[in-house]
Order: sequence, then structure tokens, then C-alpha cells
Amino acid sequence: MMPTVKCPSCMAEKEIDGVLTAQSNQNVIFRCPNCHYEVKDIQTSKG
Ligand SMILES: [Zn+2]
Repeated sequence: MMPTVKCPSCMAEKEIDGVLTAQSNQNVIFRCPNCHYEVKDIQTSKG
């Protein structure tokens, strides 16, 4: 089962697969399909 993330703008809960887009620099973009709220360059802490 895919983990979900809640949009900080409209509180819609979406599967991360549908709202997070990985960038080549290992940061990710959050984009809410519900309200089109967008956050760029989310720092990921892998490793
Ligand atoms: Zn939203």
C-alpha cells in the first residue's frame, strides 16, 4: 500500500506516488492535483 501525504493547502490526502515528482538533484517537487499547490526543491534525506 502506498503511503500518503496530506496537502498543506487543501488538506487533501494523496498517495505520494501521485503528488511527488523526483528531480535529478534528488530533491522532489510536491504538486497537489486537487488545488494545484506546489512546493519545489523539497530536501530529501536519503542514506
Ligand atoms: Zn491541495
